[in-house]
Amino acid sequence: MSSESSLRADIVEIGRRMYARGYTASNDGNISVRLGADRLLMTPKSVCKGFMTPDMMCITDLDGRKLQGDRDPSSEMLMHLEVYRQRPDVQAVVHAHPPTATGFAVAGIPLDRAVLAEVLTTLGSIPLAEYATPSTHELPEAVRKYIKAHDGMLLANHGALTVGGDLYGAYYKMETIEHFAKISLVARLLGRENLLSREEVMRLQDLRGSYGIKAPAPICAETVPDPDFGSGTDASCQVVQAPQGAGSRLVPDIPRGAVSSIPSAKADAEGEIRLTYRELSALIEDAIRSLR
Ligand SMILES: [Zn+2]
Repeated sequence: MSSESSLRADIVEIGRRMYARGYTASNDGNISVRLGADRLLMTPKSVCKGFMTPDMMCITDLDGRKLQGDRDPSSEMLMHLEVYRQRPDVQAVVHAHPPTATGFAVAGIPLDRAVLAEVLTTLGSIPLAEYATPSTHELPEAVRKYIKAHDGMLLANHGALTVGGDLYGAYYKMETIEHFAKISLVARLLGRENLLSREEVMRLQDLRGSYGIKAPAPICAETVPDPDFGSGTDASCQVVQAPQGAGSRLVPDIPRGAVSSIPSAKADAEGEIRLTYRELSALIEDAIRSLR
């Protein structure tokens, strides 16, 4: 167990890193850690996380009553308390608004596609908790749905939340989420994502065991595309979108043949597809219709 003074110093350092990396602006974000069995050490409200000092932190009990500190605890304390209540294994909680991940949260898109091995082995999937007014009782309720099975999630139109076995473990998961969001955005801007097949996802799931990676729930793979698929409503597993691979480890996210139904669509030797303006418009209209 780390000493209180080293935990205060760790919170200061993580706040500085989050602010330097642009995960928070102004007074956004909050960080907490268990201090023994029945107390929490937490960032105070209304301070910039980039300029904190160890003496600024608050100590509360597990019901949020302030026990020590000149300042009041974080305005998102209720969300932190809910996490500790639901997850006795969690030692630390980090909340921030990293811009790319928050962009996905604003667009209503969970980060739940099977794309990167290191994300699957650590976080599994990153679901999207429904929108709730910050600092109210709504937010812990929205988080409760996913926190038992996940160590990280997006908060719709708000930001991201990560938890860990210590402060740095929770912080690194926030880095992973933002890094993954950037990579996903670039791949989607480039026009395609190759997904890991279900078979590969299950292989990675087994690797968790051999590398001793602790996860609150197993990964369960869904086939894609599934128009009714949200961010996984099963609270007992980490739902990722992964297609059947039929022996291959990587599968294109757009099923081959989806475009060949258009009579004049031509694919050349490099796989480039040429469409007339009318065919392209029809494809876009189809896509929009399927989103509704
Ligand atoms: Zn926030």
